[in-house]
Amino acid sequence: MDHAVALPGKLREACGICGGFAKDQPLAYLTCFALYALQHRGQESAGIAAGPGEGRKIWLKRGMGLVSEVFPDSADLKGIVCRLAIGHVRYSYGQEGQNPENIQPLKLRYRHGELAIVHNGHLVNARELRKELEDQGAIFQTDTDSELLAHMIARQGSSCLEEALLEVVPRLKGAFAFIITDGIKVIGLRDGYGFRPLSLGSIDGGGYYLASETCAFDTIRAVFIRDLEPGEMVILDENGVRTRQVIESSCSNLCIFEYIYFARPDSNLQGMNVHLVRRELGRRLAREHPVNADIVSGVPDSSIAAASGFAEQAGLPYEMALVKNRYIGRTFIKPTQKMREEGVDLKLNVVRKIVEDKRVVLVDDSIVRGTTSLKLIQIMRRAGAREVHLRISSPPVIGSCYYGIDIPDPHDLIAHGHSATEIPGMIGADSVGYLSMAEVVEAVGLPAEKLCCGCFNGYYPVLPEK
Ligand code: SF4
Repeated sequence: MDHAVALPGKLREACGICGGFAKDQPLAYLTCFALYALQHRGQESAGIAAGPGEGRKIWLKRGMGLVSEVFPDSADLKGIVCRLAIGHVRYSYGQEGQNPENIQPLKLRYRHGELAIVHNGHLVNARELRKELEDQGAIFQTDTDSELLAHMIARQGSSCLEEALLEVVPRLKGAFAFIITDGIKVIGLRDGYGFRPLSLGSIDGGGYYLASETCAFDTIRAVFIRDLEPGEMVILDENGVRTRQVIESSCSNLCIFEYIYFARPDSNLQGMNVHLVRRELGRRLAREHPVNADIVSGVPDSSIAAASGFAEQAGLPYEMALVKNRYIGRTFIKPTQKMREEGVDLKLNVVRKIVEDKRVVLVDDSIVRGTTSLKLIQIMRRAGAREVHLRISSPPVIGSCYYGIDIPDPHDLIAHGHSATEIPGMIGADSVGYLSMAEVVEAVGLPAEKLCCGCFNGYYPVLPEK
């Protein structure tokens, strides 16, 4: 999946994080490659912090843009002497996205030295915590949850990062995966619900590494060990790896959208390969919403696996009806609705000879506003498709996300206030079929209570405090 040229109108990930500790490895350099693997999770900024340098100082480089833009000479990173490094790719939205101060890693100096922090997710009690700290005199430079955590750590008396975190972390509510370093150790943390993924791997030649997705391990030749448990803290240092349960947790609520759209197909989440889950979603979609058609095609890139599963189950030929222009970068993802709609034409073109006079099943992973679907169906019809049947490998998105995914206001969601029978007319499709929640959960292979499906079914494991 190539989100660097993601379709306008698609949901956007919150961020990708990684970091590790190893004595004899070029960790800053490896972290750059891990960030390349995580690029689909955020394309607005990238950064690496590494250490310890002289006097336990933490080296930091970060900037706006893709990993290749922030680190154009990645080989230079081999020269950075370090035993640990952490990295971040960011997607952010609203005002927050405009503030370069919010680029991560965030590096701060406090009475016990320096800290660097990266995070993925969103704290539902961030506002309350921030106000409490401001009332105590804290001055914030950024809008990030990372800075909030840094202030909370700094206010603990302990010079030991691990001990300070034990005090602070139980106060954090919501979705988060953090990686933090004080130049001595690297600590990874996952929230008590397990909304956002974080996995542990071992580095060839000694050392350990953490990453949002397992595809990052393959890139740096690390070996996957396991996913962190909800509420678990993992400490990487010169003694190897240790783990502590810092938040009592009896549940697990991994975001189901990771399987449907966010994660890279070569990643495994909770032991399930993302590509295989998507193909199974497509098979189930074909069984639940069969249609008389001539060909099946998927919206590149994230829906191709589901489309191939649909075609296989339906006994129809899979065709590449849509071709993606991979050279239109994120600079074309424009902020206004009109510009976003125009972006579809720029990014996708129809293979006229494939769709001409055909009844086409077009498979997509989700519909958010519906504007992208409308455009896609228009360009299919302009190219001569006789019928266009849209099949969606997830249920209708009906609600917002409180955990860091940029879902529009419910009133802007096409499924909000519109019945399934109204939607085909609104987007110009001959028919629309959504895969039911039960089928999605079965395809993922985890019990429903181990997943967050809040934006689909309105059940949110934890809500923002009033
Ligand atoms: Fe994922 Fe939706 Fe839950 Fe947000 S509300 S974590 S996008 S499933």
